[in-house]
Amino acid sequence: MPSSDHTSSSGTTIIFWFRRDLRTSDNSGFAAATADATRVVPVFVFDRNFLDDLTDQHDRRVSFIHESVKELRARLRGHGSNLIVLHGDPLQAIPELAEAFDADAVYTNRDYEPYAKLRDDAVARALAKQGRNLRSFKDQVIFEGKEVEKADGEPYRVFTPYKKAWLRRIEEEEFYGSPPDMPHVADLSRLAPASHMQGYGDPWSLKDLGFKESELWLTPGEAAALERLADFIPRMARYKEERDFPQRNVTSGLSVHLRFGTISVRECVRAARAVRSEGAATWLSELIWREFYQMILDRYPFIVNHAFQQQYDRIAWPGSDAHFEAWCEGRTGYPIVDAAMRHFNATGWMHNRLRMIVAMFLTKDLLVDWRRGAEYFAAGLLDFELASNNGGWQWSASTGVDAAPYFRIFNPVLQSRKFDAEGAYIRTWVPELRAFDSRDIHWPADADMLAQREAGCILGEDYPFPIVDHAEQKERAIALFASQD
Ligand SMILES: Cc1cc2nc3c(=O)[nH]c(=O)nc-3n(C[C@H](O)[C@H](O)[C@H](O)COP(=O)(O)OP(=O)(O)OC[C@H]3O[C@@H](n4cnc5c(N)ncnc54)[C@H](O)[C@@H]3O)c2cc1C
Repeated sequence: MPSSDHTSSSGTTIIFWFRRDLRTSDNSGFAAATADATRVVPVFVFDRNFLDDLTDQHDRRVSFIHESVKELRARLRGHGSNLIVLHGDPLQAIPELAEAFDADAVYTNRDYEPYAKLRDDAVARALAKQGRNLRSFKDQVIFEGKEVEKADGEPYRVFTPYKKAWLRRIEEEEFYGSPPDMPHVADLSRLAPASHMQGYGDPWSLKDLGFKESELWLTPGEAAALERLADFIPRMARYKEERDFPQRNVTSGLSVHLRFGTISVRECVRAARAVRSEGAATWLSELIWREFYQMILDRYPFIVNHAFQQQYDRIAWPGSDAHFEAWCEGRTGYPIVDAAMRHFNATGWMHNRLRMIVAMFLTKDLLVDWRRGAEYFAAGLLDFELASNNGGWQWSASTGVDAAPYFRIFNPVLQSRKFDAEGAYIRTWVPELRAFDSRDIHWPADADMLAQREAGCILGEDYPFPIVDHAEQKERAIALFASQD
């Protein structure tokens, strides 16, 4: 509790509650708070409801958030203010803080995940009992669930018409003088001085939170996110042609920053719209996919645990635990799948093309329920985002909205030959295959004994035989789906 008198004697005090928007620049709710208040008290809560469920003490997301919160706090301190950092249940922590600061209101940015919606409703009710408002703002997306819908008020269920409507709407709003990707600039002179927040101590250490530091493949925080975007802009022109090749450094790597809001989606959309190239248009499309999936989750929350195409919820997936474990550990005998899974296990990252390949492999070759794969990704992805992860899994499993048709099944070996032609990616992550030539590396099962000896890798000893036959499993998968049609 604060030791000095922090309650306001005059003017308006607003608490700004940071969540998945860990930045000061172009933050709509934060900017609104500084416009409406004489004093803004910034707060972040390490939410026990999330943290207590995480079983891995080295969870990379906690390290990322922790570092980003520290950076945010330093930034606010640079303006003579501070960031109150709490560890607890926001349902208690936020109303208590509002009371302690005699705040007029609490402002925050909206979150569309089912847990977040319930939490925010409960916090709003608790604040209302104190006679205070929780005001929330659109920040995470350009257009929310109901802002881009069909003329009859129904949500779009196919991406291309959604995207066309999304693009039309942004142009219309721009024409009428309110571009939705306009930056929101905060007036930092309205921040409450640090002296008003005394007694709230230093940020919780990872140890205090029950976690340990983990190595991250990218730098957390707002400054690093802006740098990453600046670094990506010159590559945008190549994005359309080269984005599917995992070994080339062409995609932005901004998903983690978008997830935790260390960058604003408006900033990304402005960057894409400022560059007039096919690459930029394709990149913008990916940002629109993100919004499409957020809209779908917002409008159809049942998809968290159920197939969007409900007839496929009846499928009894026959895949075995042993196959699921082999997939998790990267020992399926399909080198591109194993490389992607080992890379993922080591870093929490996977390239989009590989996410599609491994997800389709788990569901269509190993016939394992997509929910098990989605859960495995959810536990390990640094950029884990419920809407996109669910969307990507249900796309690959052919159970989702505008999903891959169930009879169009990737051949993992052909995918590997196409997108990792020289096998450079496989060599990086499956070192036992390193010495195979670029013909055999995608399918070492065909390498004769001489080639295996020369490569120093004997199948069945140094690297597994393929655990399933793709052609056979493909037929089984199609039959499984056809039986529900
Ligand atoms: C099975 C599966 C699971 C996935 N899980 C997630 C997840 O948990 N979190 C996540 O952010 N993305 C997820 N994706 C989408 C995509 O793989 C990642 O967004 C992308 O690989 C991130 O890399 P990037 O930032 O370099 O993307 P870029 O290619 O630079 O794209 C820019 C941004 O657009 C968004 N985006 C790109 N592709 C997609 C897509 N297919 N769907 C939705 N948004 C997209 C991301 O925010 C991304 O940062 C998943 C895809 C699949 C197939």
